Amino acid sequence: MSDQNGNRARGFASRAVHAGQAFDPTTGAVIPPVHFSTTYAQDGIGGLRGGYEYGRSGNPTRAALETQLAALEGGRHGISFSSGLAAEDALLRAALQPGAEVLLGNDVYGGTYRLISRVLGPWGIRLRVVDMSDLDAVRAKLDERAPQMLWVETPSNPMLRITDIAELARLGHEAGALVVVDNTFASPALQQPLALGADVVVHSTTKYLGGHSDVVGGALVLDDDALAEQARFLQFAAGAVSGPMDAWLTTRGIKTLPLRMRQHSENAQAVAEFLAEHPAIAHVYYPGLPAHPGHALAGAQMSGFGGIVSVRLADAAAARRLAESTRMFQLAESLGGVESLMNYPDEMTHASVRGTELAVPDDLVRLSVGIETVDDLIADLDQALRGL
Ligand SMILES: *Cc1c(COP(=O)(O)O)cnc(C)c1O
Repeated sequence: MSDQNGNRARGFASRAVHAGQAFDPTTGAVIPPVHFSTTYAQDGIGGLRGGYEYGRSGNPTRAALETQLAALEGGRHGISFSSGLAAEDALLRAALQPGAEVLLGNDVYGGTYRLISRVLGPWGIRLRVVDMSDLDAVRAKLDERAPQMLWVETPSNPMLRITDIAELARLGHEAGALVVVDNTFASPALQQPLALGADVVVHSTTKYLGGHSDVVGGALVLDDDALAEQARFLQFAAGAVSGPMDAWLTTRGIKTLPLRMRQHSENAQAVAEFLAEHPAIAHVYYPGLPAHPGHALAGAQMSGFGGIVSVRLADAAAARRLAESTRMFQLAESLGGVESLMNYPDEMTHASVRGTELAVPDDLVRLSVGIETVDDLIADLDQALRGL
């Protein structure tokens, strides 16, 4: 009953609970222990037990998480890092050489844009930006010049645009580019980019995978052996590894991922429908609403619409007031935890892209809808909107 390789024949929820999580053979402990040791006794020089030597090069708790992550995304290799951006950095440096170019979605996570433009830019990585949900615009950019990498987030942050992953992968591969999907917003419970043709999946496991706003982490999942080896080499040689407790917390969060994503999606749908009817709200962005331009595509490509809803108000002042006047929705950055959060992107999560091609409207508020009783969430929004 080895499930160390994730056993793809099993259903998703079974993989979330069991992949990489076999009981401890020495004690029978059903939950594998957290391995804090930084070093491993050798049976004679070079005589490693189980391949472990030093905590940066390998750790059993981290390995268990990596097995679990690979199984969830249906990939051959899962590689865990100390943050989402550390995972992105390792991937970019593993896959690209100086002079290479990334074609980036125009509303990707602001930190991704900052990493490529301000950290890797000076080392020779070039960047162009396009609305990835507009495939004609993508074709035009590819015709201009073939990039080495396409980087897409769908649903995107915070505009919730939906990109056709299968079609984008086809276009990218025709141009000879590596196709990367940041799957943080959907999580593998709702969307499986590798099965749709993408080459690499990136995660901030800080969000839905961890799921409880108590651990920062990141991951790569991919099939290509050579690229995985290169990314693993950077994990080891540059050293942005996840610590054992972080890896264990992430593993524990993942076990309930499918349940949580179902409830996030159900609550977000109800919240989006309530807000769409409210006179103080100018526009609601949620792919689960039939009026959303990506509704049909999201319905086909995803198995749920997720927990993020963005809204626009009459002006920036109204948006700021809403963000500051809810009680159950807490004003905080980040997303994907069990508790509901409010974010004013222009000055919070997206402050780093103000004045760039990735700037977000200043009348926009982003909601990360949690798994609380949905009537309480709607009552909270209702009282906040009444006070505007
Ligand atoms: C948060 C986030 C990241 C960055 O992850 P960290 O864990 O904060 O480093 C990358 N992509 C998306 C979509 C995110 O939401």
